[in-house]
Amino acid sequence: MSADPNCIFCKIIQGAIPSRKVHEDDEILAFHDIAPWAPVHFLMIPKRHIVSMAHLQAEDATLIGRMLTLAPQLALQQGCRPYPEGGFRIVTNTGAEGGQEVQHLHFHVMGGPRPWLRG
Ligand code: 5GP
Ligand code: ZN
Repeated sequence: MSADPNCIFCKIIQGAIPSRKVHEDDEILAFHDIAPWAPVHFLMIPKRHIVSMAHLQAEDATLIGRMLTLAPQLALQQGCRPYPEGGFRIVTNTGAEGGQEVQHLHFHVMGGPRPWLRG
């Protein structure tokens, strides 16, 4: 399992920085965003240090598919109402102009009653 010693999300995976976990398995960690935009706002990350969507390789397709398939299940568990009245938003910022602040691939999963703080 590759990790970047300077990466805050790798430190969260290792438990060196605490987080409020939503889900953990051998490949994926989900935890609540420290500064939520919405009533439900958690992040999903691969445990392997992948920098961004721009760094994905063909062999990552199964992992990304697992993450995106898991997201709706976790959204419901975290209190998002079902589609179509409820739903959720998945955002992945990539690179400087994409607004990415943490250089470890993550999906924001946001939902819950509006208005939201942002988004
Ligand atoms: P980005 O701007 O890279 O798409 O999103 C990074 C997100 O990580 C932000 O929403 C920010 O609130 C969240 N974040 C940054 N540091 C921490 C942390 O130490 N713990 C948690 N739980 N979230 C963090
Ligand atoms: Zn990392």
